[in-house]
Amino acid sequence: MEIGQALPVEKVKQSRLPQVDFNNIPFGKIYSDHMLVAEFKNGQWDGGKIIPFGDLPLSPATSTIHYGQSIFEGLKAYKSETEDKVLLFRPDENFKRFNESATRLCMPHVPEEVFMDGLFQLVNLDREWVPNTPGCSLYIRPFMFAADAYLGLKPSDSYKFLIITSPVGDYYAEPVRVKIERHYTRAAKGGTGYAKCAGNYAASIYPAKLAQEKGYHQLLWTDGAKHEFIEEAGSMNVMFVIGDKLITAPAGDSILHGITRKTVLTLAKEWGMEVEERPVEVKEVLEAVKNGTLKEAFGTGTAATIAHIIAIGDDGTDYELPAIETREFSNKVLKELTGIQRGNKEDAHNWIFKI
Ligand SMILES: *Cc1c(COP(=O)(O)O)cnc(C)c1O
Repeated sequence: MEIGQALPVEKVKQSRLPQVDFNNIPFGKIYSDHMLVAEFKNGQWDGGKIIPFGDLPLSPATSTIHYGQSIFEGLKAYKSETEDKVLLFRPDENFKRFNESATRLCMPHVPEEVFMDGLFQLVNLDREWVPNTPGCSLYIRPFMFAADAYLGLKPSDSYKFLIITSPVGDYYAEPVRVKIERHYTRAAKGGTGYAKCAGNYAASIYPAKLAQEKGYHQLLWTDGAKHEFIEEAGSMNVMFVIGDKLITAPAGDSILHGITRKTVLTLAKEWGMEVEERPVEVKEVLEAVKNGTLKEAFGTGTAATIAHIIAIGDDGTDYELPAIETREFSNKVLKELTGIQRGNKEDAHNWIFKI
């Protein structure tokens, strides 16, 4: 990767790096020294700039606070285990998806020079913030919100785009227990489920909390119409190995089109596995658990890469799933992905951007 110096930079006077204990990083609480900020006004973007991480001055009438016109992305930078480089996994896909979310939320597209070149420049500047502890990485959060100070409901005329970064440890070290959600709905046909927009997550917090009070980590959302088909988890897509087939819900408009999902499906097909992207009935999955044909269940997402699902709760019954060690596909794909992301496996698909 050529790292340009396209964006003006104001550096911190003193780095906060010496205060960080990289052996003990809480998720999402520590931020690196710098952030990128760009503004959209009068129909166009300024070129953006990189400045010290800090608070934003906001009017209480800022449109996004009231109406939620707000989108984000999430990706990770890893320290290569084989050379002195920082590795980004498929950031071009995040860029593409970000602007697809922008379209759905009636927001302007962010130019490639700001999102991609700015991202590379920011990560390069704060490269010492990328942890080299195993399992750790630098989480990157690009986001955009409506910035007008105006209480009327209309598309905002001004927007802010930012990228902040945060060193993180393992997200889900433990296998997860999930509950099938039969009442609440995350996303419906024609809604915003495929967009990474703030409102989707706001709507999911209450049902997720109810499930957590019953001892589950996450929900398995079902379709909004009948609650009979499994869609995805709160921040992960979900896959099942039933018999020898890898099965997952199709990427329609009510599920997030995960980059990890897409990557896992690509690898599975290359490895000769039969892959089915089709509606997945709750009934089918529970029957497969009961008759022993369900071999694996897991979530896919940037945060956890692969999160093994160890139990599925439905209607008061918990179904325990096969032991993690027996899960051939998900263990293999986790190893492959982690290897590619950390530079010790061949990147045959050019998924890695090096900085
Ligand atoms: C971000 C996200 C995912 C995972 O997408 P990746 O691109 O693989 O990180 C899945 N579901 C939801 C609801 C998400 O927000």
